[in-house]
Amino acid sequence: MVSYIGVSDIERLVRRVGTAEFMGALAREIEADYQRWPAFEKSVRLASHSAVGVIELMPASDGQLYSFKYVNGHPKNTRDGLLTVTAFGVLADVTTGYPLLVSELTVTTALRTAAMSVLAAHHLARPESATMALIGCGAQAEFQAIAFHSLLGVRDLRIFDVDSLAMAKLERNLGAAAGLGDLRVTRANSTADACRGADIVTTVTADKRNAVILTPDMIEPGMHLNAVGGDCPGKTELHPEILLLPGTHVVVEYEPQSRIEGEIQQMPAGFPVTEFADIVTGKVAGRRSRNDITIFDSVGFALEDYAALRYLHRLIQEDPHGRREIDLVPVLRDPKDLFGGTVGGVRSRMRAAV
Ligand code: NAD
Repeated sequence: MVSYIGVSDIERLVRRVGTAEFMGALAREIEADYQRWPAFEKSVRLASHSAVGVIELMPASDGQLYSFKYVNGHPKNTRDGLLTVTAFGVLADVTTGYPLLVSELTVTTALRTAAMSVLAAHHLARPESATMALIGCGAQAEFQAIAFHSLLGVRDLRIFDVDSLAMAKLERNLGAAAGLGDLRVTRANSTADACRGADIVTTVTADKRNAVILTPDMIEPGMHLNAVGGDCPGKTELHPEILLLPGTHVVVEYEPQSRIEGEIQQMPAGFPVTEFADIVTGKVAGRRSRNDITIFDSVGFALEDYAALRYLHRLIQEDPHGRREIDLVPVLRDPKDLFGGTVGGVRSRMRAAV
């Protein structure tokens, strides 16, 4: 039997652990895996593009466990009452090839993306950062806000979205969430208004085009940009000149994938970037001076989902009462008798007769 985590299970697990604590644990798992970067078999994700979105497969393996995530990105979906991003994934045992866990990853992707954002900001933003502009108030927004408040110390959040209902939803959810009493949430009139004086700017918008959410005039010395929404060919958020501003340090997850999908797709092939693993292992300094402009050009890398799936698998092992299983793989008395043990067997003939 294979363990299964559905949406109701992830809700229960996150409630049990606490949302901020869950993202803190994920950040530690992800950091530990980036620290052993060479141990991973890495590849750019396999993307199937259409006029309205993308469907992607994201594999990772460290030779002991293997994982993949199925994820889509369809910015127009929300108009029809559907999510922009949905996902599910599998964790498998490399020794036997057997799947260990099938899990929802829609909620988990939001949790792991926010965990990864905070982890990057921890290494790149000025240590006293307390003010964040959050541009884009959709499905990912609360997770980003809670993670930056609880794990990085952001106390002043300026939010902006072209959709005022999305801003109202974010204010309502943050107002009702536990543990955010000292978080001041202010609605900005524009992206420029939100960014003025911010230590960190998080962009998490969805639009299938080279959008220009941030322009160079909005960027101040010392800012950290957490650019989350530009994650596909032809789908970016930053004006290219931001990447060329003096003192700018661009950090990516896995360079070959980010060259295709990140903000740096707008730059020539030799444009200098640092892989996050080199920051985590101390090979390269994240921030060299107070006035550096640091950019985490986030696209989401398979290692982060691998870390999340392994963490989920451990959590449900520790919670045998809540654990669900599905019969994804046949259990046979004779492994060579797949026919007799399944469709051709006595058991299945009896079932058909009932
Ligand atoms: P969503 O559709 O729920 O929310 C996006 C929000 O952006 C919407 O409220 C929309 O009104 C707003 N928006 C669009 N254009 C805007 C603009 N010009 N100015 C201000 N706001 C604008 O999507 P979501 O699930 O929150 O995802 C947001 C983005 O993050 C998507 O592009 C998604 O692909 C990306 N994403 C990246 C990662 C990663 O690891 N880097 C992970 C998950 C999602």
